[in-house]
Amino acid sequence: MTSISANLQAVRRRVAAAARASGRTPEDVALIAVSKTQPAQSVAEAAHAGQRLFGENYVREGVAKAAELHARQLEWHFIGPLQSNKTRPVATHFHWVHSVDRLKLAERLSEQRGDELPPLNVCIQVNVGGEASKSGVAPGEVPALAAAVAKLPRLALRGLMCIPEAGGDEALLRARFATLRQLRDRLNDAGLALDTLSMGMSDDLELAIAEGATMVRVGTAIFGARSVREEQA
Ligand SMILES: *Cc1c(COP(=O)(O)O)cnc(C)c1O
Repeated sequence: MTSISANLQAVRRRVAAAARASGRTPEDVALIAVSKTQPAQSVAEAAHAGQRLFGENYVREGVAKAAELHARQLEWHFIGPLQSNKTRPVATHFHWVHSVDRLKLAERLSEQRGDELPPLNVCIQVNVGGEASKSGVAPGEVPALAAAVAKLPRLALRGLMCIPEAGGDEALLRARFATLRQLRDRLNDAGLALDTLSMGMSDDLELAIAEGATMVRVGTAIFGARSVREEQA
């Protein structure tokens, strides 16, 4: 067994244990293998071990891998910051975008999503920690943005995504994840039908699942450490 396949098994066990610990079933939590900076060969190895959902942060790199591994029918999630002038290949090659944080971006993705494809699934990224340097829309602006995105014809607004501040302690991380869940619940009370909370990574997936995550995005725990220098989008 390769280390990727062993790591995947270990992460799946963590996800399942965390789901059960909070009275949920393992099937309620989808695992996205974050393969940014990893070669297509590593993605192929994970796919061989049964992994189907993959997350990428950089447009060129992600599109190249999706194209190379097209025959494997994997599901590609764009999770990184996205510039408005780079939306077209994402709208064409990806199944999900988790990092929508402004209407212009959503409008372009909707316009560029091919009619032959199903609607592009999107999440709104929320800056739950209020950090000045972070992508994501402020919690107070989410209702207006969600209402506008939900009206776009070629998108399916599925939910919310967050990346809490690095180095936060457990209590803080849980509070951030709870903020995202409560926002989602309020949007649903107001008439939306959001089924997705994209939150939790290698180090905090248990906390995120305890607070209701339906998708966790895990890189390091599956593929090992990334090289320090990541490709620029
Ligand atoms: C890199 C990344 C991840 C995975 O992080 P790990 O700590 O390696 O599990 C998850 N989400 C986003 C948005 C990322 O950029």
